[in-house]
Amino acid sequence: MTDEQDQPEILPPEVRTAATELIWRCSRCGYQRARAEGPPDACPDCGAPREEFYLVTED
Ligand SMILES: [Zn+2]
Repeated sequence: MTDEQDQPEILPPEVRTAATELIWRCSRCGYQRARAEGPPDACPDCGAPREEFYLVTED
């Protein structure tokens, strides 16, 4: 019987830097909006619904 040590690699939590800013981006046309404003009900550019917006980091 082997006595293997099971040590899963513990990755550090997502490192946040001041240079990294989250923004909302339309997945259809790439329209961007500041995170603080929240996702729009519909994209002003292409009319995509809010579900099409996702948070991305911009540096
Ligand atoms: Zn759009």
